[in-house]
Amino acid sequence: MALLPILTYPHPILKSVAEPVTEVTDEIRKLVEDMAETMYAAPGVGLAANQVGVLKRVFVIDVADEDATSDLKVFINPEIVEKDGELVFSEGCLSFPGASEDIKRAATVKVRALDLSGQTFELEADGLLAVAIQHENDHLNGVLMIDKVGTLKKRKISRQVQKALAEARD
Ligand code: ZN
Repeated sequence: MALLPILTYPHPILKSVAEPVTEVTDEIRKLVEDMAETMYAAPGVGLAANQVGVLKRVFVIDVADEDATSDLKVFINPEIVEKDGELVFSEGCLSFPGASEDIKRAATVKVRALDLSGQTFELEADGLLAVAIQHENDHLNGVLMIDKVGTLKKRKISRQVQKALAEARD
C-alpha cells in the first residue's frame, strides 16, 4: 500500500472527466487500496480517483464514526440512478483544505456500481453517505464543491484554500 499525493484546487485534473473502468483488474484493486489508505490518513470520508491524479471512475467512502469499526465502500463506474428530497450539509473536501460550505444535495440516492470483484451492486443511501456519494460522483465528472455555490462563496472558498496551503508550507 502507498499513500498518494492529493491534488488541491485549482489543479486542472480536478476539472477533468474520468473515464470508465473497462475491467476490474489487480491494478484497479491496488489503486483502490492506495486510495483508501490515503483517505484514512488524511483523514477524510471520501476520495475520488481524480483527486490522486487518476482519471478513472472510482471512488471510496467511509462515513463510519471515528471510534466505530471502519466501513469502507468502494464504487467503480458508479451511476446515480435515483435521487429524492433535499438536504443541505456543510461539506468539506480533501482537495479544498481549510474550506467548508453549505451545499444543497438530494437527501436520498440510489447508486449502481461495480465492486472490487467486478460485480454490479445497488445501494440506497441517505444522510452523510448520500451526500458523500453525490460529492464523490461529481468529482468523476470534473465538478467540484466550488462549482455548486455563488460568486461570493467561491471567493471565500478560494481564500480559505490559499490560506490553508500557505500555512501548510510554513
Ligand atoms: Zn471532494
